[in-house]
Amino acid sequence: MADALFTANRRRVLGGLICAPAILAYGRARADGADLFGLGVASGDPSPDGFVLWTRLAVDPLALDGAGGLSGPIAVRWEVSADETFRRPVLTGDTVASADWAHSVHVEIEGLQPNRPYWYRFIAQGQQSPVGRTRTAPRHDAELDQLRFVVASCSHWELGHFSAYRHMADENPDVVLFLGDYIYEYSLGAERAAEVVRPYGMPEATTLAGYRNRYALHHTDPDLQRLHAAAPWIVVWDDHEVQDDYSGVWSKVPGVTPVDFLRRRAAAYKAYYEHMPLRRQVLRGAQMDLYRSVRYGKLAQFTIMDGRQHRSRQPCSDGPEGGKGRVVADSVCLDREDPSRTFLGFDQETWVYDSLAQSTAQWNIIGQDLVMAGLRLGSAGGAEPRYWTDTWDGFPVARERFVRNLGAINPRNPVVMTGDYHSFWTNDIRLDSRDPASPTVATEFVGTSVTSSGPPHDALNAMLPENPQVRFLDTRHRGYISADLDRRRMRTRFQVVSDRRDPMATVATLKAWAVESGRPGAIETSI
Ligand code: FE
Ligand code: CA
Repeated sequence: MADALFTANRRRVLGGLICAPAILAYGRARADGADLFGLGVASGDPSPDGFVLWTRLAVDPLALDGAGGLSGPIAVRWEVSADETFRRPVLTGDTVASADWAHSVHVEIEGLQPNRPYWYRFIAQGQQSPVGRTRTAPRHDAELDQLRFVVASCSHWELGHFSAYRHMADENPDVVLFLGDYIYEYSLGAERAAEVVRPYGMPEATTLAGYRNRYALHHTDPDLQRLHAAAPWIVVWDDHEVQDDYSGVWSKVPGVTPVDFLRRRAAAYKAYYEHMPLRRQVLRGAQMDLYRSVRYGKLAQFTIMDGRQHRSRQPCSDGPEGGKGRVVADSVCLDREDPSRTFLGFDQETWVYDSLAQSTAQWNIIGQDLVMAGLRLGSAGGAEPRYWTDTWDGFPVARERFVRNLGAINPRNPVVMTGDYHSFWTNDIRLDSRDPASPTVATEFVGTSVTSSGPPHDALNAMLPENPQVRFLDTRHRGYISADLDRRRMRTRFQVVSDRRDPMATVATLKAWAVESGRPGAIETSI
């Protein structure tokens, strides 16, 4: 099959320069018959003329050394077709998967037609990958009538099956937004064994091999493979791609120096790139610049912000508990208001302002990882408000500056989409977060988790009278957000799966919202 395919397609190779040994490398079937493409295929970061295609070759995906059971370089053919039969491949080419990058493949495609579906596959060692479907974005000046995107975050392998991903694929979205915690670096301990639906079965990830194997395990999941193969993804991370509650260069573990932590972080970041459909432009040594924008004609611009990598340590982190999120009161944590502390980092913050100022889109979707609108905790009964410092609530001066600048730049219809909190929220982001009479600058929707456990529902809802900026908060359901844009309106559905422990879980709509163009703030609508 693969040999016939190769012969048929060889004439269509653009450039046509293929050396004979490479041909042999594609055409020779693996003697051991082991599946090279068990980790599926993916695409991401669409442009009007292309996207990035991804796969990772592995014959033993969880091999302890993180090498996937492979060693030397492997020639890989890729094909992009205008239909799913591949009778009309429009682009084909060759690349090499190397052990240095865990035999991951990232192909940045250009030269295609805007705003249409394409199908793609890879061929190596006589094997053919599953076929993926993706889409180019419309031309920047195109009038686009509608756009559907789905949003997910927080998929702890051990806590359930990925039915949310399956139902997201069934929604036939134009694009998928993933907002962090794609893997979790730790496994649940013996005290939480009863919650485990399927074990990670590996020690906490701290090394390149450890992180690679967590991603490899996730990529074996059929529901996750299905969503990756259904539409392009735009991804950003949060903490668990490295370590719970880390902040910038600071581990949450007391006594770990930034130099030591950066070694671990760099390994985690490398594994992240190896397993995500990201463009090479994000690579910057031991850092990774994930802030970027993706445009969908005149209708929408996605502005992606990373709230984890570039920020200061959480406030009041010098105690015995080290640097991690915690609940603090102002009277015991004056650091919180220190104006020198940053959340986005100077480079990213400047870039975001420029990006929003230049945007001509009708909807400006800001995808990021941590709750922006804030939540005053436990303030009922006249007690002093307290804050969870791992979100923007730990960086209030940076937040006020961001929201004030957002108001001044005044891009059309800003809507913030957020992950991390394992719960659905609908928020008003106000110019002055402390003043409920202050104008709403943007709407915020927080997605729930794919599987990860939510915080206490009743306790958080009891705080809503003190938090008028939070219009809705439900922590009890796992699922995702689905959003439909047209020029006049954004319709948002909070989608919930029936049971994270059930691999065949069904889906239902918990709440539906509308945001009207020109009027920030969501309105609840009938389902
Ligand atoms: Fe999470
Ligand atoms: Ca998180």
